[in-house]
Amino acid sequence: MQLEETVEIKGRSIIGFKDGADSSQSVRALNPATGEEIEPPFVQATTEEVNQVAELAQSAFLEYSRLSGKERAKFINEIANQIEALGDTLTQRVMQETGLPEARVKGETGRTTGQLRLFASIAEEGSWLNARIDTAIPDRQPLPKPDVRAMQRPLGPVVVFAASNFPLAFSTAGGDTASALAAGCSVIVKAHSSHPGTAELVGKAVQKAAEITGMPEGVFSLMFGGGRTVGSALVTHPNVKAVGFTGSTGGGTALMKLAAERPEPIPVYAEMGSVNPVFVLPGALAERSEAIANGLHVSATMGVGQFCTNPGVVMLQSDQAGDSFKDAFAGLMDNHADEVMLNRSIQKAYSDGVAARDSNSNVEVIVSGNPDTNSGPCHGATSVFEASAEKFLEDENLSHEIFGPGTTLVRYKSKDDLHKIAENLEGQLTATIHGTDADLEENKDLVAILERKVGRIVFNGFPTGVEVCPSMVHGGPFPATSDGRSTSVGTFAIDRFTRLVAFQTCPQSLLPDELKDGNPLGIQRMVNGKYTRD
Ligand code: NAP
Repeated sequence: MQLEETVEIKGRSIIGFKDGADSSQSVRALNPATGEEIEPPFVQATTEEVNQVAELAQSAFLEYSRLSGKERAKFINEIANQIEALGDTLTQRVMQETGLPEARVKGETGRTTGQLRLFASIAEEGSWLNARIDTAIPDRQPLPKPDVRAMQRPLGPVVVFAASNFPLAFSTAGGDTASALAAGCSVIVKAHSSHPGTAELVGKAVQKAAEITGMPEGVFSLMFGGGRTVGSALVTHPNVKAVGFTGSTGGGTALMKLAAERPEPIPVYAEMGSVNPVFVLPGALAERSEAIANGLHVSATMGVGQFCTNPGVVMLQSDQAGDSFKDAFAGLMDNHADEVMLNRSIQKAYSDGVAARDSNSNVEVIVSGNPDTNSGPCHGATSVFEASAEKFLEDENLSHEIFGPGTTLVRYKSKDDLHKIAENLEGQLTATIHGTDADLEENKDLVAILERKVGRIVFNGFPTGVEVCPSMVHGGPFPATSDGRSTSVGTFAIDRFTRLVAFQTCPQSLLPDELKDGNPLGIQRMVNGKYTRD
């Protein structure tokens, strides 16, 4: 039986194996369900502390990056164990700070520990390293061929910004941290100010796992701080070599700029947002209008619409069948009870977005969900808008994300409309097509356009609910993410925190074990053009 840990929340940053200093500069989290502040106050990290963690992260990196995948896996698996040991203490604190229901919090805890174990397993298995060996041919004519061996190596200390909408799975020990640690990078997490207690509990679990498994101090640190100062200082610190971020377009692009303007620019992997267009094709609508309306309602309101994969724009034909679908969907959305949003700033951003669309003459308001944002619980109400394809194409505001349970129905008249809309889309995390076999055959071109615009195309399903598996792509061209070649979910995510290094004519004793003759780690490698474990 697992004994539950009692961990005191101190409200201090975690600096390697120590606590940050006390100071008068502190903030409290807000319970979004009651509108009341929660104890304790969280002390803002100082510039000295930022420098201290960056130094520790650098020295830890030099040691940690040389450990085998097996040793890293031991640490990452232990983080999962320590998170589980927090039990109800963690569940209750997450619920208090986010207003999320218990089932979601427990589900997200499982997703977080599952992700950690998945990255531990691939760190240990080793084929992700893409190790390649081309042996020498000294007598090749006209020139000898040298011995060249290459593999992925970790970049250095990584700064991870915790996300407001996934307090566990995209935060302190979430996917960015798990993939960076698996790659061999040390990690500094900038906690999100709306769930600092959650961050500290999970941060302590990581710290304890590092101590238990004998990791170098500084392999992980956690910093509290708002007002952009701590985040900016971390991103511009010369020891930091990459950034992982999930949040707003404004935040992500500001961090991209900061990183690009450094004397040594570094990559920022920012996952920023998306309207996740859904294309409902005529055959599918005729066959299963009610089922699609029900599924869309569930997807659009899941997590109070606070998912980056929320279906924000739905293309629907402009005829009687489309009208019936609209009425059914609008009825479901209108009857959906108000729910608690994650924090005041998200509720306010949602409310402002809804208010702007309410007053936009290019749309018709079908369900108006403009909540009061000033005090009390952070409630969010559903909203539905309608626009013609022409207006949608004309007015770029209509394709901007309203983060929350709001959906815009776009009424198309022809296949040509659909193609123009698809061609006009900005980069997206996902696109969804509802179509019969005949619809899909008729719209092959639409699929080809969407492949250039999005990271994941969903057929006859819904975009929310991102499976964590090796083939998942949770990315997409800018502005959905800062780098369309990457994903923040699934095991491809590890590649973000690495770069290739080749060793030419390198003595065996100096090669990493992964590239040595005899394959001492037994990993899959490409030797002279053929994959082998020999
Ligand atoms: P955010 O404002 O982007 O902030 C996220 C983190 O980035 C915070 O730690 C913040 O630090 C830091 N940050 C932001 N701008 C920065 C800058 N210029 N310099 C340095 N650090 C910076 O995101 P949020 O608070 O989570 O939510 C705000 C809005 O983002 C929401 O209302 C929603 O519209 C959108 N959002 C979208 C998604 C999505 O997946 N599509 C997810 C979450 C949020 P500080 O604590 O110092 O401010």
